[in-house]
Amino acid sequence: RAARTSGDAVRAYLPSMGQIFLRRFQLVTQFRQALDSGQVTVHYQPKVALPGREVLGVEALVRWVHPEFGRLDPDEFVPAVEATGLVDALTSFVMDSALAKVRGWLDRGLRLSAAVNLSVRNLADETFPDRVAEALRRHDVPPRLLSFELTESGVMAEPERALPVLRRLHALGVVLAVDDFGTGYSSLAYLRQLPVDEVKIDKSFVLGMGTDLGDMAVVRSIVELGHSLGLIVVAEGVEEDAARDQLIEMGCDVAQGYLISRPLSEDRFEAWLRARTVRARGRRDETVLTL
Ligand code: C2E
Ligand code: MG
Ligand code: MG
Ligand code: MG
Repeated sequence: RAARTSGDAVRAYLPSMGQIFLRRFQLVTQFRQALDSGQVTVHYQPKVALPGREVLGVEALVRWVHPEFGRLDPDEFVPAVEATGLVDALTSFVMDSALAKVRGWLDRGLRLSAAVNLSVRNLADETFPDRVAEALRRHDVPPRLLSFELTESGVMAEPERALPVLRRLHALGVVLAVDDFGTGYSSLAYLRQLPVDEVKIDKSFVLGMGTDLGDMAVVRSIVELGHSLGLIVVAEGVEEDAARDQLIEMGCDVAQGYLISRPLSEDRFEAWLRARTVRARGRRDETVLTL
């Protein structure tokens, strides 16, 4: 009887399938207006070179403050938006925001890159590389300062469509990164075939490293595999000093995570940057150093 009561209590808090579909439908139908009315913004999270303290650039991460549902996680609305043509507008919005930031930093003597997450649909769109080239010209940003993060499942969904798009993006000179590496199943074999420059170790392994020897072994082997293929290896989900130290010992190239900073709104990121910018002696350029 007690079990049944608690079961009912739990059920009362679980949204029904109908509610889930309704909310998803609302998110998709409201997204266009949300983009146009400023409810959707971009947050920036720094990436730092290891073993040093130099900030290399940022990852651009979308946010939506919904008038009824409040702050929405991209894991909730991005998949819904990805199922529609609206994902083109989302990617363009994030790419434009990020390129405007990169241009602004360059104008202040700061050479920082920005990474934008792509969805499966972008990779299946043969017009996408032209839009990227146009955006780079419009913002007058060197291609090397833009990177795209793609997931394994995004590429493997339709490899025969994604590969030509990836090759053209690569030919433009933008950096390509495989995101959430280690969570798929065809990892090793296909990584060699892709025109990518960077591999990002999935945060689940990096977060587990302190307590799970298996996770530690996975991280170490991705670092070695990445380097043997000539790739830059990035660890996401770096939350603790111990993880950072282990990554340095393994030879990992770049760290991203709450230890360095959470993703920050544009204003808060600018303040974070200003507090850490130092002028290199005898140089015009400036450098951002973390603690
Ligand atoms: P992702 O590309 O793997 O981004 C990293 C996620 O890990 C971000 O979550 C970030 O806030 C979180 N994170 C960073 N450091 C730490 C850490 O130290 N500890 C923990 N526990 N988490 C950390 P976020 O911003 O919620 O984004 C989730 C996912 O949504 C992203 O995963 C990406 O796949 C997708 N996403 C975000 N922005 C965009 C976008 O503009 N377009 C597309 N297509 N997808 C996006
Ligand atoms: Mg990413
Ligand atoms: Mg990731
Ligand atoms: Mg992810």
